[in-house]
Amino acid sequence: MSLKKLIQWSQTEFTDLPWRNSRSLYGTLVSEIMLQQTTVGTVKNHYERFLKRFPDLASLAKASEEEVTVAWKGLGYYRRARNLKKISEYIFNQCGGEFPSTAEKLQEIPGIGPYTSHAIIAIGKDARGLAVDANLERVIARLYGLKFEKGPKLQKKILELFNSEKIFSDFNLSYRGLNEALMDLGRTYCQARKATCDLCPLKNDCLAFKSKKPLSYPVEKIATLKEKEEHELHLLRFIVIKKNKVLAYKKTDKEWLAGQYEIPTLVISTTDKKLKQYPFLKSKVLDGKLKKYKTSITKYKIVNSILVADQKLLKTMGFTSEVEWRDLDDDHANLSTASYKALKIFQAD
Ligand code: SF4
Repeated sequence: MSLKKLIQWSQTEFTDLPWRNSRSLYGTLVSEIMLQQTTVGTVKNHYERFLKRFPDLASLAKASEEEVTVAWKGLGYYRRARNLKKISEYIFNQCGGEFPSTAEKLQEIPGIGPYTSHAIIAIGKDARGLAVDANLERVIARLYGLKFEKGPKLQKKILELFNSEKIFSDFNLSYRGLNEALMDLGRTYCQARKATCDLCPLKNDCLAFKSKKPLSYPVEKIATLKEKEEHELHLLRFIVIKKNKVLAYKKTDKEWLAGQYEIPTLVISTTDKKLKQYPFLKSKVLDGKLKKYKTSITKYKIVNSILVADQKLLKTMGFTSEVEWRDLDDDHANLSTASYKALKIFQAD
């Protein structure tokens, strides 16, 4: 198999990724958690800044959750920032600051699953590991002609094949190089909806290419009715402002945007009767006159109406969560993107 060619291609083409310049287990942990659900382009803009702020495991473990979420700004999916912080605390406090040495031991740490553990071992240590996410799952399914439904079961199967040396069996090069090259291939030539096989360094070995139907690997999952479900949500966003401070509340672990701050928010209406993310508005509001903007989160299409109010009005209308005055000069009060957008629209008036 032309894996040497593949690795050479990757090392020639993708030298500018900052997390590949200087290697460490800590740097790999940070970059891999950033790269989950975020594009390489976005992570490139934030990785070095984050590492400057938290240069090692100890500095991250000792920081407050708020400091970490502020440094995470721009990367989205803040749950990952809090997870990263918890992992660093665990390794610092429970493992004497040393990363466990195998993927299995790493997986004993809450928040580290098969993908991250293998990424740390393979990329951070350059030892035997295979970091199988949706990207690698696709490339490997095509390369080895694995016609199974994509998803966690296929990822587990690929790891089993790897552990029993049924795939990449004679591999004796760098596992770091292999993992990174497969990641690069999945991002460039071997994409979900487009396979540029003619340029691919693996085309002579690839069973999906030989089948002439590369896109049919792995098998697409048929979405269930529940997965297809979408909901309309109409929110009322309160702006209560005093000099340079805004009233906001911290989202709990059970809520969307956990750990971030939101301006007080109530549900005006929704098609999802089970929604528990925000309390419902108790009294009527002349919504037609309010400024509006659109956002979305998971399966919800959201229309946000902005109401400038005083603190007393909140309780009357049904908002009873504990609020605090947040300084807008302090990194925009660490507000969520949707709350900050409301504020920008209000300030533009
Ligand atoms: S030959 Fe095509 S399908 Fe096979 S790995 Fe390369 S890009 Fe993917």
